[in-house]
Formats: sequence, C-alpha cells, structure tokens
Amino acid sequence: MALPLNGKSGTTGLLLSPNSVLANALLRSIDLMRPRVLAARPERIEFVVGTQINGAPHLGTNLVQTAAFLLAKIARREFSIDTMVRFGALDNAPHDVVLDPETHHAYQQTYFHALGKDKVGELIEGYYRAFFDSLSEATGTEYAIETYTGQQAAPKFRAEFLRTLERIEDIRWWLAPSHGVVHIRVPCPACGWAEKRADRTKLVRLDEDGATFTAVCLDHGDYEVHIDPEDDQPYLDLATLYRNLVKERAFGRDPGTLHVMMKGGDWAFGCQLVDGALGALGTPPAAMPMRIFTPQVLAPTGAKLSKSLLREQGKGVLPADVEPWMLDTTAWPADVDDYVDTLVWLVGELLTDPKHFFRSFTVKELGRLMTARPSSFPVRAHEMGIYKRYFDLIAQRKKTTEIRVNDSSRRKIKEGSLIRFRCQGDELITRVTRVARYTSFEEMFDHESVASVNPMATREEQLANIRQIYPPEREALGVVAIGIELVDPLSTTATAGVTRTAPRPGAAPLR
Ligand SMILES: [Zn+2]
Repeated sequence: MALPLNGKSGTTGLLLSPNSVLANALLRSIDLMRPRVLAARPERIEFVVGTQINGAPHLGTNLVQTAAFLLAKIARREFSIDTMVRFGALDNAPHDVVLDPETHHAYQQTYFHALGKDKVGELIEGYYRAFFDSLSEATGTEYAIETYTGQQAAPKFRAEFLRTLERIEDIRWWLAPSHGVVHIRVPCPACGWAEKRADRTKLVRLDEDGATFTAVCLDHGDYEVHIDPEDDQPYLDLATLYRNLVKERAFGRDPGTLHVMMKGGDWAFGCQLVDGALGALGTPPAAMPMRIFTPQVLAPTGAKLSKSLLREQGKGVLPADVEPWMLDTTAWPADVDDYVDTLVWLVGELLTDPKHFFRSFTVKELGRLMTARPSSFPVRAHEMGIYKRYFDLIAQRKKTTEIRVNDSSRRKIKEGSLIRFRCQGDELITRVTRVARYTSFEEMFDHESVASVNPMATREEQLANIRQIYPPEREALGVVAIGIELVDPLSTTATAGVTRTAPRPGAAPLR
C-alpha cells in the first residue's frame, strides 16, 4: 500500500535556469560538499551563517538561513553525519558613526556598545528566535546562536588573532588591497567608541603575553589596551575581511568538525581576498574553509536588494514588485510557520537542480515563485528514508517499532510526533506512540519486542542487518526505538491535521 499523499517535490516547469560551469559538474547541489566530506571524514558538520543584526531581516537574509537549515538536513541524510546550524549574530555592526569636527577622524560605536548585551539579546530574540525555532522543527535540525561579542571574547579567537598579527606583513595587503592598513578597532574602555578606520590605532608591542595597542578617543584622548587570549577584555572589533579570516582559521583547527560557511552570492567576490590571506598564512588544504554561496535577491537593476541602499537612496529606488515583507519579513501576512514553510518549499525547489540554486533571482521572480507555491502544505513530520521490505511491513501494520540511532534529529522525536517514511517515491505517515532510548542495539532488543521491529526475522538476524546499516561510530550515538502507528490517509487529508492549508499572501494584490 503506497500513498501518493504529497507527490514528489520539484514542480515541473516552475523554474527555467541556464546551465553553468558549476551546475554542469553536479548532479545535485549537495554534491558540492562531497569532495570535502570524503577528504575530511568529519564526525559532524556545522553550517555557519553570520548576519548583521542592524534592523529587521529581509528576504535575502532569511534565504541564506533557510538554505543552511535545509542543506543541514540533506547533508545529514546524504552523508550519515550529524549536522547543525551555527548562527552568528554580528552585534559589532556600527550603531552610530560621528566625525571629529577638528581632525575629521570618524568614530563608531557597535550595537553591543550602544545597546548592551541584554538589548542585543532582545533584538535577536525578536527578529530570529521564532523563525529559527520554526526552521529547526521543519528541518529536524538543531541550531545554536552566538554573538560576535561572545566569539571575540573566546580564547580560541584571540589566540588565532594574535597568531595572524605575527604575520601581519604577509596578510595586510590582502585584507586592505588599496592602502595596506588593516582596520583593527579597539574601542575606548571608558566610552566604547572606536576609530572607524583605526587611523591612529597602533600596535606597539607583540610578544608571548599578547598585543598592546594605543589609540585615540574623541573624548578621552590617548589610551592603551592589551589583548591577551586568557582575558575576555578589552573588546576586539575586526573589520569584515579580517574577522572572517580569523574565524575561518579557528574553525580549520577543529579536525572533527567540518564547518560550512553559508554566504550570500555577493560574497563570492570578497572571498578572493580572504583566500589570499589564508594562502599567505600557509593554511593547509584540509583547514581551508568550505563555503556555499546562496542565491542573491536582486532589484531590477541587478543590484542586490540591500537595506543600506534603501537607507541611503530612499524607497524610490525600489520597484513596485517589492512587497513590504520582502524588506521586513516580520511583516509577512501570516504566521511564522507559514512563512518558514513557504521558504523551505522555495529553497527546496531551488535545490532540486544545481542550475536553480547556484544563480540569482530578481525580487519580481521570487515574488512569482512564492505565489506559485501550493496552497496546501504537507503536514510537518520527521522524515525518514526506509528500505522497501520495512516500508511494506509498516504499510501492512506488521511493523510497529522503528529503530534508529539517536542523532540530533531523532532527539526531537516525541510521543505524538508524525513521521513520514519515504521509499522509492512512495511515502506513508505514522504517528509516534512511544519513544525509548538505549545505549546499544543489544540493550534495545533486551527490552523491545523483536517481532514488532520485524516479524520476519530473529533477533540475531536483525542485529546482523542493523549493524550492516549502522557502523559502530553511529551506534555509539545511542539507539532510539520508536513505537509507530499508521495514520489513515483518508482521515488525515482534510481534518486530522496531515495537510495544512495556508493563506497565500503572495497572491494578494500588490500594495
Ligand atoms: Zn572614550
């Protein structure tokens, strides 16, 4: 019994994209990661997204984030490696900039210094928490949020920074090709303001104890700060390229984890300079960052949809196609789960073919696509691929216990959750009746009914089968036994919550 409940993904004819060098080399977008995964054999993969927190997120920002969660889900399945999303909130974005009227030196204050830790936390909660919780649930992917302020205070980041400082002559033209002056901002300890271009910030001493800088404050005159890996003070505010260099070098020292930098496509140009600096530092190939560039959202002129452009030029630069939620996604006219489901659907469609994913989209085209989404979504369910013989046993209601290793996506499964089993284009939906966790397959079979896992095989045969699927390092994650009951598709399509009907804000007349 196979239920063509939700059909296959990939709407025929929805998207037209030309071929490209990269798309031509890949069957599927996820294949881009394969050479690194095979070379590094990591224990886990973390998808890293950094976002400035100066204002409400726009569509381009949420697109990168959605791609990170969705790729984490796909990579977990594809490579049988646990994955998560690491979100970096860049609270060092400038909050205010002033000019010294006498010397014309520019001074700036970061969001962290202007608002403080608690207010920054409230901003992140307000803009991102509900969105990430919903994405996390929709993709079965864990996430962590950290701020730049937290990163720069960590010994690992500071030690890495000090190591790059020893080689500053080798990297400074990569980080500042026009003048060779790297912007290391060390805010005044008395007021938190720093020279924007670090014009008068000088490195005066560098030894095994750390680095000492002198700088000049607008209000407090000359001051001196000392950066030491063991101390989380004073604040170290690195300009974008330098920050990325230090962050990526530090990630590269973690052999067990592959970090995948998720970046909007406009970053592809800037990464040449980061790569130049990584090369100048002699970064070994295995420690070079893996990066995935995501589709850019473009205005009709081909310029990136950008809040700073809006602030500078006013709304006049925007085409009529731009809906309010594209610039401030908290204005989406339905709830956050609906917005997330739409984005996950959209990015899922883009990922069906590398030609669609590794390209850019105008605002107008994205508006068209989001309008073309199905008006009802499949219900949110944990997804699991399964072999045909087990799929058929579940369909016949003969298999009522499913066994998996307890990786991060399984840890979210609880009684009442839904699981969608997929096999060769067919799928069926089950409801979780109970969850039991064990340290090994042996222990699991000491407690679970062998016949409920598979009525056709003995305990010994099943153990042998399971261990062919899961190597010891996967079993070491622990084992979860999931009681399942088939959900009757007739009772679920309309009323029991297996299909959600969503409003279609994209179809509303343009405002
Ligand atoms: Zn000061």
